[in-house]
Amino acid sequence: MQAIARRSRAAGRRIGFVPTMGFLHEGHLSLIRIARRRCELLVVSIFVNPIQFGPGEDFTDYPRDRDRDKLLCRRENVDVLFCPSNDEMYPEDHTVYVDETVLSRGLCGASRPGHFRGVTTVVAKLFNTVQPHLAVFGQKDAQQARIIEKMAADLDFPVRIVRGPIVRESDGLAMSSRNKYLSREDRARATVVFKSLRLAKSLLSQGTRQTSVVRRAVREALGATPRVEVEYVATVDDRTLKPVTRVAGPTLLAVAVRIGGTRLIDNVVLRPRSAPSGRGASYA
Ligand code: AMP
Repeated sequence: MQAIARRSRAAGRRIGFVPTMGFLHEGHLSLIRIARRRCELLVVSIFVNPIQFGPGEDFTDYPRDRDRDKLLCRRENVDVLFCPSNDEMYPEDHTVYVDETVLSRGLCGASRPGHFRGVTTVVAKLFNTVQPHLAVFGQKDAQQARIIEKMAADLDFPVRIVRGPIVRESDGLAMSSRNKYLSREDRARATVVFKSLRLAKSLLSQGTRQTSVVRRAVREALGATPRVEVEYVATVDDRTLKPVTRVAGPTLLAVAVRIGGTRLIDNVVLRPRSAPSGRGASYA
């Protein structure tokens, strides 16, 4: 992979990169299309990264379908599908890790200790191997995208991080490889996650700015659906990921729930200017 990257760079071709864990869906494909438009050599990686899964998480059960993934990548004109093995990525004597120490502690980091250390480590390794000019990450995993941006800035990776918007099913459920785990009944219940985020947006447009009011409404909406257990409902500054009490700038409303055994995350960015004209004008 490094030899391909070197040759491509020497020939003046821009390398675009989309790292994934495979079992590709339209969310992944949207990122691939964003990268395709901006580079001459498009690399997609598929690697189910063992070190970002905690004990008791779904590493062994994580859905995999390499043949279908290959076909989809071919259709999107992906130039290189990079699928390293666990042993190539983590030989027995691997001892060095990359750890972001602030942004990764809250939200998903609180219930998944070590998760983001696994993510930053694998992405750093993939960046060094693929040597991309730009890499595309999904807003679906907003905390992850922010941590990768911070890693690239703090460790001087010469790569531009681009975010792609969340791609949803027609009923609003954010696409995820893990949606496959949901039973038919739970799949129907899962729509409450997006509905609760929409409710939050409508509160904003009615002039609500207090995040405690927003969080309470979201929790109530989620709590009204059977089998939906809330892990967190958080309102944080979009850049620092620190909790905020008022929506005074871009505010990430992030939600994690469990439905049955399946953990789902989703988010929306709340902005003060989403108030109707006339109210909130002072924020314009
Ligand atoms: P994963 O295979 O789940 O590790 O995801 C690979 C990339 O796809 C990450 O940057 C995710 O944020 C992104 N992604 C996953 N689901 C979606 C979605 N529904 N919309 C946009 N991007 C997504």
